[in-house]
Amino acid sequence: MAYSLWYISLMKKQRGAAIFLCLCAILFLSACNESESGETAKHPPLSMTRDDLLGTVVTLTAYGDADEAALESAFRVIEDIDARMSANAESSEIFLLNRQSDGAKEDGFAVSRDIYDLTKRAAEISGLSAGAFDPALGGVTELWKANGEFASLPSEEEILSRIDAAHFQNILFLPGSRIAFAEPGVKLDLGGIAKGYACDKAVASLAKDGAKSALLDLGGNIYALGKKPGGSDWKVGIAVPYAGESGVACSIPVTDRAVVTSGGYQRFFEKDGQTYHHILDPATGYPAESDLLSATVIGRSSADADGFSTACFVLGRENGMALIESVPGYEAILIAKDERVYATPGIAGQIEILDERFRLEET
Ligand code: ADP
Ligand code: MG
Repeated sequence: MAYSLWYISLMKKQRGAAIFLCLCAILFLSACNESESGETAKHPPLSMTRDDLLGTVVTLTAYGDADEAALESAFRVIEDIDARMSANAESSEIFLLNRQSDGAKEDGFAVSRDIYDLTKRAAEISGLSAGAFDPALGGVTELWKANGEFASLPSEEEILSRIDAAHFQNILFLPGSRIAFAEPGVKLDLGGIAKGYACDKAVASLAKDGAKSALLDLGGNIYALGKKPGGSDWKVGIAVPYAGESGVACSIPVTDRAVVTSGGYQRFFEKDGQTYHHILDPATGYPAESDLLSATVIGRSSADADGFSTACFVLGRENGMALIESVPGYEAILIAKDERVYATPGIAGQIEILDERFRLEET
């Protein structure tokens, strides 16, 4: 059976692979059945890709009802969020806020309203996930980075010196969009949620400009806006969670939903025969060691799905599943190290396994 369209939670690290998979998506599109290819002819896809935003490859594709100007506006929205929320760019608001954090002022620092709101939401997700996702981890994540890339192994002393301050309850939300830190050394890192937030804002921008059917891919954070031309659900693939592989483990049908995957196979480095990936366990300051290879969360808000997917990856199967089951409107697909696929009841019946190494676990 030929699928009318593939879209794939891409391997974020390898831009070449990402672009290759985008091409695959287009090829699969041409393999669609007759009535849908008729629809696609009526609504030819308009697609733009940029590889200089959010440290990843961003592709926006609209099917009819939105023009080039609409895609360009959506890219400007992403560009603005990237410029202000990146923890690495020296002119970003987050960078400037973090630079001041050592002299923690009681009346805090004024930030943009959206940074204030997103940080607040991130702190709520921390509370819901027992701190598995934590936007106050910036002091620790920066130790692991070199030139913005996750590439450097800190000493144990360095990690220990920063881990105590790195706690979401140390972020204080004051009136007037002001953020203060309860102790010196607290730093924000919105890297686990900003891509999802940028996706939500790009969706809103496209919808405002008339898009009724579009796919957004922000380095593997996928959003399916509306239905496919022809009226059926989009089919979104979840990547095989192994470094160096570009296949699809399973797929799900989605409409008006974000699909966000976090995994240890995406960004990592090796040192002395040991692999270190980019999702840290806030309890230790070291890469999370759960029983999962990847965690995918599906829901209306890409920002929430982004925060929750990072949290699930840290929490592992049992606690990750319990977390998502407690959040109305959200579903999870967790791929465990033993290659079993676990899913919340609301989505389990819709999963199609495409790589036989992976087995859907009955729930
Ligand atoms: P990706 O950026 O690949 O989509 P995630 O959404 O899981 O992956 O976010 C990982 C990024 O978030 C890291 O690069 C780091 O900046 C930050 N981070 C790492 N561990 C955590 C954590 N436990 N909670 C919050 N942010 C984290
Ligand atoms: Mg995330």
